[in-house]
Amino acid sequence: MTPTAQAALDRVRERAGAELVERIEHLDRTRAAHVADRILGAADREARVDTDVVVAGGGLSLLIAAELARLGLRVAVIERTRAGAAHREWNASDEELRPLVAAGIVTDAELTELVIARYREGVCAFHGGTARRVRGVLDRAVDAGPLLSRVRRVAEARGVVFVDGARVHAVGASATSVRVGFQHAAGAADELLARVMVDARGASSPYASADLVCPTVGGVVRGLAEGRGPREVDPEVGDILVTTEDVDPESRLQHVWEGFPGRPGEVTVYLFYYARAHEAPNEALASLYARFFDTLDTYKTGDPELIRPTFGYIPGWSRLAPAPRGPSHRVVLVGDAAARHSPLTFCGFGSMLRSFQPVAREIARAVEEGRPPRRNLVPEDAVHAWTGALATVMASGALGGPKLNGLLDAAFGVLEEMGNDDFEDLLKDRMAGKTFTEFLRRTGSRHPSVYREVLHALGPVAATRWGIRLARELLA
Ligand SMILES: Cc1cc2nc3c(=O)[nH]c(=O)nc-3n(C[C@H](O)[C@H](O)[C@H](O)COP(=O)(O)OP(=O)(O)OC[C@H]3O[C@@H](n4cnc5c(N)ncnc54)[C@H](O)[C@@H]3O)c2cc1C
Repeated sequence: MTPTAQAALDRVRERAGAELVERIEHLDRTRAAHVADRILGAADREARVDTDVVVAGGGLSLLIAAELARLGLRVAVIERTRAGAAHREWNASDEELRPLVAAGIVTDAELTELVIARYREGVCAFHGGTARRVRGVLDRAVDAGPLLSRVRRVAEARGVVFVDGARVHAVGASATSVRVGFQHAAGAADELLARVMVDARGASSPYASADLVCPTVGGVVRGLAEGRGPREVDPEVGDILVTTEDVDPESRLQHVWEGFPGRPGEVTVYLFYYARAHEAPNEALASLYARFFDTLDTYKTGDPELIRPTFGYIPGWSRLAPAPRGPSHRVVLVGDAAARHSPLTFCGFGSMLRSFQPVAREIARAVEEGRPPRRNLVPEDAVHAWTGALATVMASGALGGPKLNGLLDAAFGVLEEMGNDDFEDLLKDRMAGKTFTEFLRRTGSRHPSVYREVLHALGPVAATRWGIRLARELLA
């Protein structure tokens, strides 16, 4: 470990205790190791499968397991710790939560209980600029713990088999089946033969090769001052993207805050930045947490206490590089492993809520028809092809000093002018290409250096690829 990372860990230990430091070190070690799956030989064509689908990983993607079982498939979930036991808060909008009711996970009344806070509006505000307000986006906070334990109970009732405390570490696919090798916590090796393996191991999947990453730290904080001031918490307002400083001259990173109130007196606060995956340091979380504690008062005042830390690396895919994919058509990636969510907002929760039913339907059809699922089984939202370039610009560090904040303030100012529907559509991943080009044109006239800055930040190859896509959209 570098002396800087060690010093950062010492500061985190002082502020939040040894247990958090151990968890950070464990995640950083796992990320650095990035262990590949062992390759197994293919099973005989005629071999009888043990189950239709093995889902490797029992985090948020457990929704897919429950839906597959509802469609009549035999499903086994293999989880390194305990499936359906996440502890964090997620935010989404009302309409994005509806599939939970449609899929029979919760009733309307149960959904109302899972929502722990509702906001009037969301804010995007960039250092030196104006707060831009949007309604209908990320305005419901959901307690992930009760949600995921509910998904697990429903899945169990539908016959899903859970193997907790086992690590998937080997895969062998043939034209008709896939062998999934795993190791129980006590050390015993085991194996299941399935028609399809769903890789839901999140960022630690060996196939999670997305080109962007968003190291994120924070969690539930108590003791922040409440009020209507910019550095106070308004329980009816969620901060979607807020910066309180320019790009750091040393690291060339733009740090961003997100904050959304939860139960009375509690706020979920995250500090994160976008980076190109190959450039993000392996020990990113320790120094980011140290910065969280050191600079929280530039974001919100009060006497903060971090009562439930959450942190991790969220993968993002710019759409300017090859998509993450499994080693075979019989191994499909979902959730963070696939990184099909927005490369701008990194909202994996909203993306999963929209996609878990279509994904399960395609897998069920494929099993029924005796073929592997389509490679692109997570429905792709067109807007990501455009916003991926913006995220790459943010990750590149090329727009130093106040330039990036200036560009973001101009862009979000245009969105606000275009009206709530367009602003909402962009943040909910459904803005049409034509509207996006109009948004770019207007950003260009408000901030004339945008094209030069984007070209400089992306480099000639990616910028040309992006330009061709835009031109196609304009000519269509
Ligand atoms: C700090 C933080 C805050 C976030 N906040 C938000 C938010 O507010 N809104 C939002 O939309 N998104 C948010 N996200 C993103 C969201 O949490 C992810 O997109 C989502 O959890 C991805 O779900 P998943 O099932 O793909 O992966 P995960 O939920 O990460 O689950 C992966 C599972 O796989 C298991 N696993 C790993 N390796 C193995 C193995 N070898 N064998 C078996 N099991 C294995 C893990 O133990 C884990 O349970 C946040 C992410 C982080 C890190």
